[in-house]
Amino acid sequence: MATIKSIGILTSGGDAPGMNAAIRAVTRAARYNGWSVNGIMRGYKGLITGEIEEFHSNSVSNIIQRGGTILKTARCDEFKSAEGRKTAYDNMKAAGIDALVVIGGDGTITGAQVFAEEFDVPVVALPGTIDNDLSGTDTTIGYDTALNTIVEAVDKLRDTATSHERLFFVEVMGRRAGYLALNGAIASGAEAAIIPESQTGDDQLKTLIDNGFRKSKNSAIVLVAEDPSTGGALGLAERVEREFPQYDARVTILGHLQRGGSPTAADRILASRLGAAAVEALKEGQRNVMVGLKNGDIVYTPFCQALSKSKTVKQSNVELVKMLSI
Ligand code: ADP
Repeated sequence: MATIKSIGILTSGGDAPGMNAAIRAVTRAARYNGWSVNGIMRGYKGLITGEIEEFHSNSVSNIIQRGGTILKTARCDEFKSAEGRKTAYDNMKAAGIDALVVIGGDGTITGAQVFAEEFDVPVVALPGTIDNDLSGTDTTIGYDTALNTIVEAVDKLRDTATSHERLFFVEVMGRRAGYLALNGAIASGAEAAIIPESQTGDDQLKTLIDNGFRKSKNSAIVLVAEDPSTGGALGLAERVEREFPQYDARVTILGHLQRGGSPTAADRILASRLGAAAVEALKEGQRNVMVGLKNGDIVYTPFCQALSKSKTVKQSNVELVKMLSI
């Protein structure tokens, strides 16, 4: 095993608050160990175009509190081709980079897995996505901040919702994962969450209406995960208009608001711990693992397991929303 002297770091795919805190932690931990650090711009794209710059300790000053990513991010189809990845590898070698730390979601980790296998390069990934849809970690970087943004928005909506008799559908992100919708519903005291994980033959909208959501209430707020099978909040509102015209349904789609803002303390601490642990992993000779936090401890999970989609929302939390919304 060749010793590592220089690493490259990139952020890729959807941005998430806390990515900057992770970039800072990786950079500082690597510098602490005497390694050189290269910031790669725009995810895998920068590896292909050679947009690589040397990072020093002060390159990451004053960024822990900033949302987004100073390295920028991009989606890069070229990296999905063997030629694109060969160019990326050649540029990486030309820049003297021995190992990579990538920060992103499941697409980014899929790319890392393919690249690492093809060129026998040590790669360590950090889970950076608001969706919390990666196995191998209890939460992902950005998830807590997005959850707090959702709660703040729903609190505001409730003020107007209680003044009218309406059914409010609030669509949140999550890419086929219901974490934001479900835990957002618990934290904001919403009447229900309609999530992909409960989409197993059960008509969640009909159940909600049949259970008489308005028995003791004038209005209801329902958090809805974006989900092609329900059509999201708009799809559900159309169904209400068609099938339950006695109700007045309104739609709020939070959209990209959920990606922005200053990361919460929880996300900054998570990103800082995972960033330092990524460097530790490379030092120990680990490769092709995602760093995560489980029950408060750092864990390393092979890429294939992190991508296995085996993590699911807690069924007891689904029941909790029902119990607390009577
Ligand atoms: P996220 O990381 O947020 O899930 P994407 O799914 O858009 O975001 O993936 C980010 C990038 O990862 C893609 O633009 C592409 O460059 C790379 N990537 C995704 N899937 C693959 C793949 N199968 N092979 C190689 N690279 C991939």
